[in-house]
Amino acid sequence: MTNDATDRLLVGVELGGTKTIAVVGRGREILDRAVVPTTTPRATLDAVATRLKLWDETFRPQGLGIASFGPVALRAGTPDHGHMLDTPKPGWAGADVLGPLAAVLPGPAAIHTDVTGAALAEGRWGAAAGLSDFVYITVGTGVGMGIVSGGRPVSGRMHPEAGHLRVRRLPGDDFAGVCPFHGDCLEGLASGPAIAARAGKGAEHLAPDDPAWAFVADALAEGIVMLMLTVSAQAIVIGGGVGLGQPQVLAMIRPRIVALLGGYLPGVDAGSIDRIVVPAALGGDAGPLGALLLAEMAVEQSSGVASSKRQ
Ligand code: ADP
Ligand code: ZN
Repeated sequence: MTNDATDRLLVGVELGGTKTIAVVGRGREILDRAVVPTTTPRATLDAVATRLKLWDETFRPQGLGIASFGPVALRAGTPDHGHMLDTPKPGWAGADVLGPLAAVLPGPAAIHTDVTGAALAEGRWGAAAGLSDFVYITVGTGVGMGIVSGGRPVSGRMHPEAGHLRVRRLPGDDFAGVCPFHGDCLEGLASGPAIAARAGKGAEHLAPDDPAWAFVADALAEGIVMLMLTVSAQAIVIGGGVGLGQPQVLAMIRPRIVALLGGYLPGVDAGSIDRIVVPAALGGDAGPLGALLLAEMAVEQSSGVASSKRQ
């Protein structure tokens, strides 16, 4: 059974805002790794491509997965597939991320967001292991969501942007929020920069009992309830610097979710919520492991449908 999914040698690239991690691996095992700073698209992608060429000769990987910061165009068959959209990161708007990396490996390639990659990894090996329907939420510099539905990552027009859901506010709260598009959307209320703007100092410097956390927890609970009702999630996995760095927020979110649901969803109650809303488990490896899972999906898809790249 040399072609079993767990036997495949694959390449994964996590393209992050500050650093890019490329790995070659088999299943969860990472055989080699390269880390390059994310500077200009040219310099970063050239450095990664050089390593990928080397790995192609040494390991003969079967596919490539890229888990990228966003927003990124995901519709296969369109001219901008795999290109960055209008990102604020200087020099990256419009950059082709998929093309230059896919060109150096003969196998099929796939791209999705870094959050979706992390979601897939948590679903295979981490906090949502074995589940088919769940949401991974990173609460950090932004609020990002990866949604897995029926075992597949959700994307359509682009990728889910549920961090920009408009949430109800706690009565009397008039903080304007920091989202440049919406002000007080979820990201505008609960991201690290939002907390810093509200509290006047960095989120990591706030005491666990600072009054600001109640607003953060409330906004997140509102957003999570919308997601639970919409995608019928079996679990909500919370990661990111704020999400993991402030365990009291998770403890505040859980009863608030139960209260907001009002007993409407069977099986979601005070006794079960700790198993439904859970912290991420894979840490920094979720990104590269997720990229490997995107590579696995590319290989599986191309074994049924001839990849356009191979003609
Ligand atoms: P990114 O979202 O950029 O990938 P992180 O998930 O680490 O990276 O999020 C960075 C944000 O999280 C910053 O706004 C930072 O202030 C905040 N942050 C990091 N660590 C903590 C912590 N322990 N407690 C609260 N906020 C934190
Ligand atoms: Zn917004």
